[in-house]
Amino acid sequence: MDISVVVPLYNEAESLPELEAWIRRVMDANGFSYEIIFVNDGSTDQSWDVIKQLRQNNPAVKGVCFRRNYGKSPALNTGFGMAQGDVVITMDADLQDSPDEIPELYRMITRNGFDLVSGWKQKRYDPLSKTIPTKLFNATARKVSGIKNLHDFNCGLKAYRQKVVKRIEVYGDMHRYIPYLAKNAGFTRIGEKVVHHQARKYGKTKFGLDRFVNGYLDLATLWFTNKFGVKPMHFFGLLGSLMFIIGFLAVIAVGAIKLYNMYHGNQYTLVTNSPYFYIALTTMILGTQLFLTGFIGELIVRNSHRRNDYEIEEVLGEKKTNDKDGE
Ligand code: UDP
Ligand code: MG
Repeated sequence: MDISVVVPLYNEAESLPELEAWIRRVMDANGFSYEIIFVNDGSTDQSWDVIKQLRQNNPAVKGVCFRRNYGKSPALNTGFGMAQGDVVITMDADLQDSPDEIPELYRMITRNGFDLVSGWKQKRYDPLSKTIPTKLFNATARKVSGIKNLHDFNCGLKAYRQKVVKRIEVYGDMHRYIPYLAKNAGFTRIGEKVVHHQARKYGKTKFGLDRFVNGYLDLATLWFTNKFGVKPMHFFGLLGSLMFIIGFLAVIAVGAIKLYNMYHGNQYTLVTNSPYFYIALTTMILGTQLFLTGFIGELIVRNSHRRNDYEIEEVLGEKKTNDKDGE
């Protein structure tokens, strides 16, 4: 099969028939073999009935229905699990993304050798309250992820080589950073294509401004887990040591000041009157806690099955498995 189109949706009943007809038109015109996987993320409207109806007329339509609403990332992850096409394309259900982009995205993956091609809504039809924070968000994501050529991380329209979607795991709200997830999994050929964008025709947006707060927190999480996921002590231990060094210097200062004053017969002062005493106290406590956090982190990693989970591209000769866990 050439293409799997994965469409996560939450209460988008009005848009679905138009979307399906449009995708079908594009696929038939280009002679692609395809499937459309609608992942109904616990919609409370007629969406699922509409999908069942669509399937009766077009056997390429497939669907999964969550019992409740989980979010866009779980929906995408489930669709990725089902996808069988060589190229997997994700698309929002609200008709803001145009299926006319599919042939070119497919070509970029199959001919130009990209692992992932992300859409770029260069001209957006969204309210200003969304477009301005988005600029800031993308600048930060570029900096942190090191993927310098992407302008629009969170674009719903993206294309992937099949093995990319089978390797990465999208959970929580991580759909905003799929290119970063892919890069961390070793898929570095990441491209971009300017795509058409339209104003929402039916229904309303499912994400409010909290997306930006959560977006930054998720970015911090990804940065941390990517850099220190299997060696947390390198992070906490470094900070802890820094605290101890500061604390140690402060202790020396406290002692030296005290001895100096005694030697010169100055007025008798308590060490607790010195600011260095309090600096020493707090940094020592913080240092201990950071080290303890590091140790707990290491214990968790030790028990994680992922600690030795690597991206192996190819093996020459026989691969000897030496699985100590007996998995
Ligand atoms: N969506 C989903 N589950 C959710 C929220 C959204 O599957 O909990 C889908 C939604 O139906 C749409 C896509 O994710 O197909 C993008 O959502 P939306 O258009 O509201 O986001 P925006 O375009 O405003 O960024
Ligand atoms: Mg939308």
